[in-house]
Amino acid sequence: PVRAPLPVGAAPRRPTRQVQVEWGGRIVRVGGDAPVVVQSMTNTDTVDAIATAIQVKELAQAGSELVRITVNTPEAAREVPAIREQLDRMGVSVPLVGDFHYNGHKLLGQFPECAQALSKYRINPGNMGGGKKRDDNFAQMIEVACRYEKPVRIGVNWGSLDHELMARMMDDNSKRAQPWDAQAVMRDALVVSAISNARRAEELGLSPNGIVLSCKVSHVQDLITVYRDLSARCDYPLHLGLTEAGMGSKGIVASTAALAVLLQQGIGDTIRISLTPEPGGDRTREVIVAQEILQSMGLRAFTPMVVACPGCGRTSSTVFQELADSIQAYLRRQMPVWKTRYPGVETMNVAVMGCVVNGPGESRHADIGISLPGTGEIPSAPVYIDGERSVTLKGDSIAEEFQLIVEQYVER
Ligand code: SF4
Repeated sequence: PVRAPLPVGAAPRRPTRQVQVEWGGRIVRVGGDAPVVVQSMTNTDTVDAIATAIQVKELAQAGSELVRITVNTPEAAREVPAIREQLDRMGVSVPLVGDFHYNGHKLLGQFPECAQALSKYRINPGNMGGGKKRDDNFAQMIEVACRYEKPVRIGVNWGSLDHELMARMMDDNSKRAQPWDAQAVMRDALVVSAISNARRAEELGLSPNGIVLSCKVSHVQDLITVYRDLSARCDYPLHLGLTEAGMGSKGIVASTAALAVLLQQGIGDTIRISLTPEPGGDRTREVIVAQEILQSMGLRAFTPMVVACPGCGRTSSTVFQELADSIQAYLRRQMPVWKTRYPGVETMNVAVMGCVVNGPGESRHADIGISLPGTGEIPSAPVYIDGERSVTLKGDSIAEEFQLIVEQYVER
């Protein structure tokens, strides 16, 4: 993918190093001049290699450019090469990221095929024990990363912050003439933990171009403050995400609020939207939300955008909602992110409007648009193509005819 021109109002992207995450000749670039990368994480049991491979495939086909899987037990580590093999057999080359906590040093050491099959390791320095044991465990993981030439994400998390570091920083804070509040010390500790562990990884031999950082918290204002600070203090690429964002609209709104502010300021090189799925819900939703954030902000383009008015008392029928929905579904089906048949068309805008008030105006601004008749209006629907009024549809098959016009436009 190429980076879109800088949208009006957005700050230039913060200069960072570039990290390459590779599998089988496919290279995903994170940071530097690369576009913001979308990633996601499976929620299957990694021991179930088939179910995990299927979900990775679904996430990749929805447009996830990196997929993280948990590697939490020897049984899970043993299955990672099988998952990779399944994916390769299915022609899915998305790089896999292994998520390690507590025992990553053991698993990566004991299962070299797992270490090799993964394209990147996520290390949480807050979950590696304490004191010398922690240092040794961290060093073992970095040693494996160096041996297999894999990049790592040093992912610090509010919920699993290094206790010793936190205690030391709290102690130092109490000696300040004007101590900070505890939240400010915690935010600082997250940043210090991420950067000091990255420096240590470099001392242990890992290339600075093999390190991505993240400092995840679950509150919007804390996340913005932490990442502003982190970005000012290092040039590693940054992975953004509001951890434990929550369910449904709450998770989407909170993630969007936090990430949009940071992205607008040029901060963030890869994003994940951590949504709690509804029972049996579709995991790919987090990928679609991430894409929609980036596309709405003009930072990337993934799929044609359908603009639809919210409807009001001027339109009593649901024809336009149904039409907007079916056009959106059609465009996603015909132009899946993973297999763009129409390069360039993913930036297309389609308008489906409910009445004459804003219908013709919005339709003219779109590449192709339709203004359906509202209550009391003449039952006709003018269609606009490239800003010009093209045809006027009438009768009971307006929806089908408009869909055909969109299809022909796309083909052209
Ligand atoms: Fe209401 Fe018409 Fe505006 Fe749609 S375009 S919200 S139907 S006034």
